[in-house]
Amino acid sequence: LNRSLAEFGTTIFAEMSALAARTGAINLGQGFPDTDGPEEVREAAVRALRDGRGNQYPPGPGVPELRAAVCAHQQHWYGLEYDPDREVLITTGATEAIAAALLALLEQGDEVIALEPYYDSYAAGIAMAGGTRVPVTLRPDAEAGRYRLDLDELRDAVTDDTRLILLNTPHNPTGTVLSREELAAIAQLACERDLYVITDEVYEHLVFDGEHIPLATFPGMRERTITIGSAGKTFSFTGWKVGWVTAAPELVTAVRSAKQFLTYVASGPFQYAVAEALALPDAYYTAFRDDLALKRDVLADGLAAAGFAVYRPAGTYFITTDIRPLGPEISADGDGFAFCRSLPERCGVVAVPNAVFYDHREQGAPFVRFAFCKQMSVLEHAVERLKSLA
Ligand code: PMP
Ligand code: GLN
Repeated sequence: LNRSLAEFGTTIFAEMSALAARTGAINLGQGFPDTDGPEEVREAAVRALRDGRGNQYPPGPGVPELRAAVCAHQQHWYGLEYDPDREVLITTGATEAIAAALLALLEQGDEVIALEPYYDSYAAGIAMAGGTRVPVTLRPDAEAGRYRLDLDELRDAVTDDTRLILLNTPHNPTGTVLSREELAAIAQLACERDLYVITDEVYEHLVFDGEHIPLATFPGMRERTITIGSAGKTFSFTGWKVGWVTAAPELVTAVRSAKQFLTYVASGPFQYAVAEALALPDAYYTAFRDDLALKRDVLADGLAAAGFAVYRPAGTYFITTDIRPLGPEISADGDGFAFCRSLPERCGVVAVPNAVFYDHREQGAPFVRFAFCKQMSVLEHAVERLKSLA
């Protein structure tokens, strides 16, 4: 067994979804929608299958229709111009994009700065690529009800061995959306210290307060930034595993070199369907976001009424809470792991302990994440159950 992977075991999402299945609890742990994406996009996948488009190995970089659609999307939403032939790569979900980008850029011992708490595949991806992770902790500001990035801490984390920053905005699990000022400071730092940035923007269309600004739009960043998106998040097809990378030609070539020996290509028929999804009118995107904004409010208010301290997310479909106000008995003395393990039995709901997203586990101990990408009736039911904690 590879010792660098031994610490990762089973992902928390699989563990918590299994717990939900075993106990029949409402699963607000793993972030997947309980309603599939648009009917016409599903039809597009069926048509592609039926018409024999993508049933055999598609081209390595992705089918031309999807690469063109990704470029049109970046142009339409952000004014970013990419060449579909040289600056786009279709991947097997954002997860593969992240892993392939890390494998492409890292050499043994290179340091990667990631904002902690971070999505679980980052640590494993960095380890698989032989890198060393350097967490910079986002700090909860209880009064403001949000998490903050300390830019001095970020600057201090850069050493001569730092190769890249692995960024995620909108941020899972805290729901933080980095501001223009924060992003500008990160961009400036990357330019000054000659760093690459891999920016995981899979929740780009799920911003309720403020706006999503791709890092690649900042001066000097287009050539050093690898941007990642996912159809799983944007169109509610997490099972399709279609993601994409946009970056300068040399970077895309490097990521592709790694990708071709991981999965070779991404699944064919779904690529054609996602190409059609990306061309949906703006109204799709705004309706998707507005629906989730309502759900955020219902779950956030419900969690607050149940006694949690709530970090109301500006983006993503996750809410981070502090369980300590529930008292020492229910919160298991502020131990999110123990709390999440007891929650199905206590009130029939599953959540995820944020500690798993930290190197400094103690920093994340009392925080627990709930997903709200669920039908309103499911969230209302969950809120009803959670009330019994108060
Ligand atoms: N990045 C973040 C921040 C995520 O939350 C997720 C998971 N949903 C992914 C990447 C992985 O995306 P995909 O399912 O497209 O592999
Ligand atoms: N990204 C999803 C989450 O954060 C889950 C993805 C997974 O299970 N790997 O919950």
